[in-house]
Amino acid sequence: MRIVFIGPPGAGKGTQCKRLVDRLGIPHLSTGEMLREAKSHNTALARWIASYIDAGRLAPDHLVMRIVTHRLKAKDCVPGVLFDGFPRTTIQAHLLDDLLAEQGLQLDIAIELRVDEKKLVERLLKRAGTEGRNDDNRETIHERMRVYHLQTAPLIEYYSKQKKLAVVDGMQPPDAVFASIESQLNHYRTH
Ligand code: ADP
Repeated sequence: MRIVFIGPPGAGKGTQCKRLVDRLGIPHLSTGEMLREAKSHNTALARWIASYIDAGRLAPDHLVMRIVTHRLKAKDCVPGVLFDGFPRTTIQAHLLDDLLAEQGLQLDIAIELRVDEKKLVERLLKRAGTEGRNDDNRETIHERMRVYHLQTAPLIEYYSKQKKLAVVDGMQPPDAVFASIESQLNHYRTH
């Protein structure tokens, strides 16, 4: 199964994705994690990536696509994959569709975790204290939210037009969110 997860920063994507990969036994492909890993080295590329992420902006599409294309070639992605935080722009969504189509594959479902934005900012500020991510501070959080509305929210319409969008209420307790996700998956599973 190939699943895309969409939701603003702090929506709880990470938590739900971890549970989902355990349940489905498919790899978790988080472009945020992959970019943070790439950023952790002492190289010019790392500093270039940091200049985007630490400012709350998106990394360039071509860089993200290169990372994803490479990762998708691994054997463990054959049975399926859970994309977390990718695609983040409609260009990435088009390119992902093309990439999969080249292999005779397609996405099964795009899950949108819908949440209350004020609550999100609270959650993110809390996380800022515990996880120590450079991009979790008040200024960057607002920038990431703005970027989400501008660049990522259009994906909701993109997948809705493809009849692949499943909206899940992300304000429920985590177990209820997971149950809603599972019931949506049963509807959309094509293979
Ligand atoms: P969150 O959803 O909490 O913001 P992520 O780990 O998904 O966290 O992403 C962290 C940062 O990594 C983003 O703010 C962005 O700068 C960068 N990033 C992650 N995925 C992408 C992507 N698909 N395209 C461009 N930039 C990305």
